[in-house]
Amino acid sequence: MNKVQANQTTAQPLLSSTAKIAIIGGGVAGSTIALRFAELGLNTTLIEKGPSLVNGPPICHLHAGGNLYREICDEQCITLLQQSIDTVRVYPQSVNVRPTVIALPKTDHGQPEDLLPRLEKLRAKYSELVAKDSRNKVLGEPADYFRFYSRDEVDVLRSKAIPNEATQDSDWLISFAHHVDLDRLKFPVLLVQEYGLSAFRFAAIASLAIDTLPSCHLQTDSQVVAIIQQKTALGWQVSTQYQQSQTIHHQQFDYVINACGFKSGEIDDMVSAKRKRMVEFKAAYVAHWPECQGLWPEIVFYGERGTPQGMAQLTPYPDGYFQLHGMTQDITLFDQGLVASCQQSAQPKLAQRFIEKIDKQWPEQLVNNRTLGSIEHIAQFVPGFNTATVAAKPLFGAQQIPGEDADLRTADVSFYGQHYARTEIVKASSALAAADAILQNLVDCGLIAESELGNYLTEHYFPISQQCSEYEVTERAIMLAKQRDYPIALAKNL
Ligand SMILES: Cc1cc2nc3c(=O)[nH]c(=O)nc-3n(C[C@H](O)[C@H](O)[C@H](O)COP(=O)(O)OP(=O)(O)OC[C@H]3O[C@@H](n4cnc5c(N)ncnc54)[C@H](O)[C@@H]3O)c2cc1C
Repeated sequence: MNKVQANQTTAQPLLSSTAKIAIIGGGVAGSTIALRFAELGLNTTLIEKGPSLVNGPPICHLHAGGNLYREICDEQCITLLQQSIDTVRVYPQSVNVRPTVIALPKTDHGQPEDLLPRLEKLRAKYSELVAKDSRNKVLGEPADYFRFYSRDEVDVLRSKAIPNEATQDSDWLISFAHHVDLDRLKFPVLLVQEYGLSAFRFAAIASLAIDTLPSCHLQTDSQVVAIIQQKTALGWQVSTQYQQSQTIHHQQFDYVINACGFKSGEIDDMVSAKRKRMVEFKAAYVAHWPECQGLWPEIVFYGERGTPQGMAQLTPYPDGYFQLHGMTQDITLFDQGLVASCQQSAQPKLAQRFIEKIDKQWPEQLVNNRTLGSIEHIAQFVPGFNTATVAAKPLFGAQQIPGEDADLRTADVSFYGQHYARTEIVKASSALAAADAILQNLVDCGLIAESELGNYLTEHYFPISQQCSEYEVTERAIMLAKQRDYPIALAKNL
């Protein structure tokens, strides 16, 4: 029995390190790092300003190959594929297993065959990963990673009834064949094994597992207001303010991880750490279309970002609910929604109107206008969708993008000075890579003995998190959806 298998049965702390680690921010990055460390028995304190975990900008798509982004390089797509596979292995209960159909409108500048070279590279990489370790086979057979369907093949599917379960890949295209205006598209269309990722189910797993892990100390409703480097040691004094009182609480830590998402610059400024980064405010919308029935894939209609023809994305949930993105200035994107840091501050400054949307609420008329705009955007291609209605407030938030390339989609972590790391993920699936890099840094700093870590430096060891049952995750995710005022369908598995 190797070290990993031996300890899965005993659940004893694996590491003797007494280092005290603070993680500021309980989004997908901070929660993943807290789980990764606490599963190993490290003394971890997770400090979150809000009342619950993973309550930041939305997450609906597992970018297992980055095929939504034609503008990024193949290397980023391959990294997204690898990181997504790791994410499915660690958090299988957070994944909505259904493929994505990608179609090019006739107005689009590209051709479907332009996608082929990258898809072949991704399929080869997936085959290689599966050959190396069969546990990586989480996206189906490598040979079936993607498939193109001609107009004739899609036309044949129109005569079939929309099924409730898929027995073969083409079953996922039957609702597409019935409801999409095929004359507006170039053929062939692509079906690729990019699944959905549920933010509510992710939040549920994180909170259930953290409740059970004795070495993880969760402090919610606690905002970090100051950090001071200690003079005598390499540690930090972290000051937090409980949201309901004025009292400031000081705590000492050996290592601090800044996982504050789009607010990471505020913590960087507290420790005078310079960093170039951008922050982008975006929103997705929730619509109800009860007429829809049966099996739906995610459907993406390509288009040029920021123009009225920007990409349209339809993400299905149970009971006729859909999440919608439209990469136009009137739907998902916002005028002046992308801002950069400056010489004086590592925190990019979003206009007050965005901060008010994040901290307070959206004006009702704006919710209606933008959601109806997103419905209309989808209805260009799915005509029946024009009867869909506004189902909830938008899913929205700001995300950070490190550096100066607004198209960057894969990033994980950077370090400043000693005993200070900041997570800089752009996609949820990069959170594990951030955790791994910080674990390595703890070894490099001498806070963890490498000899004790052994396989765990590379092996994702999450026995407690992985014990969460489907039932428990669904129950907790539904509770969170209700608390946050969203339809419970968004919390259910497809
Ligand atoms: C519209 C939209 C759609 C998206 N869709 C997808 C998608 O489909 N798939 C995908 O992978 N990614 C998607 N993303 C990106 C994804 O949401 C982010 O990458 C991810 O949420 C970032 O996680 P994080 O943990 O770094 O930050 P966050 O989730 O922002 O978490 C940071 C946490 O830090 C806390 N915090 C901040 N300051 C303090 C402080 N001083 N003290 C204590 N706590 C503090 C905050 O309350 C917050 O909970 C989308 C983003 C947007 C905007």
